[in-house]
Amino acid sequence: MLINLASDTSTLPSAAMRAAMAGAKTGDEQRFEDPSTRALCEQTAELLGQEDAVFLPSGTMCNLISAALHCAPGDEIICAESAHIYGSEGAGYAWLAGASINPIPTATGIFSAAEMAEKIRRPKLRAPRSAMVVIEQTANRSGGTIWPVETIKDVSETARSKGLAVHMDGARVLNAAVATGIPARDYGEQCDSIWLDFTKGLGCPLGAVLAGSRDFIERAWLWKHRLGGAMRQSGLSAAACSYALDNNVKRLTEDHANASRLAKGLRTVPGLVIQETVETNIVMIDLPESIGAEGLNQCLATKNIRLSIEGEHRMRAVTHLNISKEDVDAAVAGIAEAVQNSENPARS
Ligand SMILES: *Cc1c(COP(=O)(O)O)cnc(C)c1O
Repeated sequence: MLINLASDTSTLPSAAMRAAMAGAKTGDEQRFEDPSTRALCEQTAELLGQEDAVFLPSGTMCNLISAALHCAPGDEIICAESAHIYGSEGAGYAWLAGASINPIPTATGIFSAAEMAEKIRRPKLRAPRSAMVVIEQTANRSGGTIWPVETIKDVSETARSKGLAVHMDGARVLNAAVATGIPARDYGEQCDSIWLDFTKGLGCPLGAVLAGSRDFIERAWLWKHRLGGAMRQSGLSAAACSYALDNNVKRLTEDHANASRLAKGLRTVPGLVIQETVETNIVMIDLPESIGAEGLNQCLATKNIRLSIEGEHRMRAVTHLNISKEDVDAAVAGIAEAVQNSENPARS
């Protein structure tokens, strides 16, 4: 069996989740007649401290619609340079909303209110308008780091005082909530829009829920239709998401423990530099100059192990509900062997 550490999107729906889907009450989502989808939206809005929510096919569409609603053409978005919206969504914000990005270089994916304030344009006739700031909780490509709630408050207050909307890319906000014990609502309440991805650690086949004020969600519905994201009997999928909220949240602590275990194991492998503190389920791995990520992944494939490639010498490992403690130990052993063979090809 493949030990797939490339992403927590590789989770497969469990038998119990499939059973919940099979038994779901359904109707036409577009007429607000799908009870399972309505229930999920209400449950998620409450969880994230918002008035209302809308079910969408993907997290990417949540970011896209939020950019469209918070920005006018020519406006600017402020986010960390490593943010998913900036590097991993085909610049949808530019294509659809006509916005550009003013990125903040960070080591952790987290920036202070002061760092953001420096990027906010002073109102001048010829300057673009800073319209939206994106907080990515947790910061994926920075190793699953957690935005402290105080930092979010500061950023949010400063942003709002300058007229920017605060958007949280909460793909993994529940990982942060479980790791810190801080309710997701405490993060969400600081934001004008926030969404949660069900296809990452929560283990669902598809779906994300975007939450905000009643007015924001009403306006989001037009974009949902426009982008072809309005569904029909979406309750089949929504039921999987509700199942995940009830059953797969607390267990995220296991993924965090496994990620720490993985990091600890990998620190014993000569040549590898492992992310110093592992806060959630993501571990960044830096390889020595002599080893390329492509080559190492090919070698790992022969051992049924997969990591994701983040740069020429940088890889990422993500733990999730289909990764056990035993898988982690096997992965450490396999990666150690592959690294040794790559450094001494003659001996392999
Ligand atoms: C996965 C991810 C997205 C995109 O979500 P999809 O459901 O894959 O479209 C956005 N932001 C972050 C931080 C992510 O990890």
